Amino acid sequence: MNFCFTTIRSFPKLWKNNPYLGVGPGHSYNSFFLKDGYGIRNQQKLFSLKTVSPQNTKAINLTAKARYRRKEDEGSNKVSSEFPHLFAAGAAKKRSQMNPHNQDLALSPERNIVQLPSKPLNSEQWDKLKEDFKGKANFEDWIIIQLINYNSSIDVAKSLLAWVAAKNNGIVSYNLLVKYLCLCVFHKQTSEVFDVYEILKARYKTLETSASTLLIRGLIHSDRWREALLLLEDIKKVMIPSKKNYGDCIQGALLHQDVDIAWNLFQELLGHDLIPMMETLKAFFDFGKDLKDDQYSKKLLDLLLYLRNNQLYPGESFAHSIKTWFESVPGEQWKGQFTTIQKNGQCSGCGKTIESIHLSAEEYELLKRKILSDVIDGGDQYKKTTPQELKRFQNFVEHCPPFDVVVDGLNVAKMFPKVRESQVLLKVVSQLAKANLRVLVLGRKHMTVQSARWRKDEMEKVQKQASCFFADNISEDDPFLLYATLNSGNHCKFITKDLLRDHKACLPDAKTQRLFFKWQQGHQLAIINRFLGSKVIFQHIPSYDTVVQTTGDSWHIPYDEDLVERYSYEVPTKWLCLHRKI
Ligand SMILES: [Zn+2]
Repeated sequence: MNFCFTTIRSFPKLWKNNPYLGVGPGHSYNSFFLKDGYGIRNQQKLFSLKTVSPQNTKAINLTAKARYRRKEDEGSNKVSSEFPHLFAAGAAKKRSQMNPHNQDLALSPERNIVQLPSKPLNSEQWDKLKEDFKGKANFEDWIIIQLINYNSSIDVAKSLLAWVAAKNNGIVSYNLLVKYLCLCVFHKQTSEVFDVYEILKARYKTLETSASTLLIRGLIHSDRWREALLLLEDIKKVMIPSKKNYGDCIQGALLHQDVDIAWNLFQELLGHDLIPMMETLKAFFDFGKDLKDDQYSKKLLDLLLYLRNNQLYPGESFAHSIKTWFESVPGEQWKGQFTTIQKNGQCSGCGKTIESIHLSAEEYELLKRKILSDVIDGGDQYKKTTPQELKRFQNFVEHCPPFDVVVDGLNVAKMFPKVRESQVLLKVVSQLAKANLRVLVLGRKHMTVQSARWRKDEMEKVQKQASCFFADNISEDDPFLLYATLNSGNHCKFITKDLLRDHKACLPDAKTQRLFFKWQQGHQLAIINRFLGSKVIFQHIPSYDTVVQTTGDSWHIPYDEDLVERYSYEVPTKWLCLHRKI
């Protein structure tokens, strides 16, 4: 059975009068979309339902698979020398997989709710399904959320709305309507999006942001894309639009060749201190392909510098777009390749040396000033340290010559649980001292009291080979570690397994946070032995900075691989190397 109606206004009636929309042999939604494009919107519209494909006929069993995964595992001690670098993309994930206690938890037992329909139902069938529904939630709301979660065909959702409307004098709640819109947008059913848009406009004076956001996304691919810009203006009246709203509008403008609007929106987005989505940046590069326009090229290079300044990395497909764009610029002869950087900081592709990880004197001074003042001001993270103890520590540090290595004694001593703590610490300290390094060990007072874990003779040997500062047992070590290392100068390294993310988060602005991360990568020594053998092995500190960079006739761009999950404190290991044949 096919159902016809003449005006969009009568759409709600559809649900009121025709609770069941049968499966007909008519057109697919896709063909409606194409017809709309050819301007026959004012003609009668024929609604028919897509035949359910064989894959869809199988009902989806709604068993939520509660998956649980620990975000990270700093506590794992199974570190081996084959292990990826502490800051390398994917390292945290691998660390967590190596820990047997970190396996995904068993799935929760199946709960019998109802099966999602795979094709449109009639009133009686919906009534029956509602009766079977055992959940506590409102049935209509629950079922539409499931339809969204399982990307069901919109025909099923439409039959649900028709059933609801039939029982409700033709009224479908705003909530249900917006959720239906969500499904239409997902399936790119543009003509349906238009219809829901018209209903919403007719029925409500203003829309809230979630509906506007969906409509923007639904409209940008169509010839009515400019209406998305109006919706964006509506959002602006009440709040700052999201990066997604801007991103969608920019993509809509680029799809319709309106470059000026796209760049203006982009400027506006940055003006609100929003970080654009990578796909938005990618869209600019994709559009720029084969375009001979110096102004446009200049703006794309500015986008790359934006990535640099904000320590952002493109994803794999974006990196491909960047490569394709460079190679397409007429007359410039760029050649790109995907590569890695050698340990000495040389690009395996072109042999050029990547920028150093070391902070410039100005950068170092800025970071030192910010962190030291933070320690002294005693922000929240330093509450466990008393002002008296901090003063005692400052005096201690001022009276020592600068150190080469600062060791977080407690943290290092616990790296090998099967070995006595004082023995581990002595081993590490002895090795550093033999290399003629001036070592500072930060510890707690309890470490100097004889016990099974802390032998007095071993601790005395530690004190002979290194300067030691033992804080009260309640103190936190990190502030002391940061203070002593930074105070010693740019050459000084530190050893801890801790990733110091709390400190990074406490820094006042993004620029200082990036400096901190760069400094940390260049100064943190990690022990990578799996077992405490004859020698302690330290992880190689990268000599180069993983950041977008250029020399004018070359670009080196680190990027994220699609299949590697990178945590915020890790950096990518893959690079795009671009250079000009001159
Ligand atoms: Zn290169």
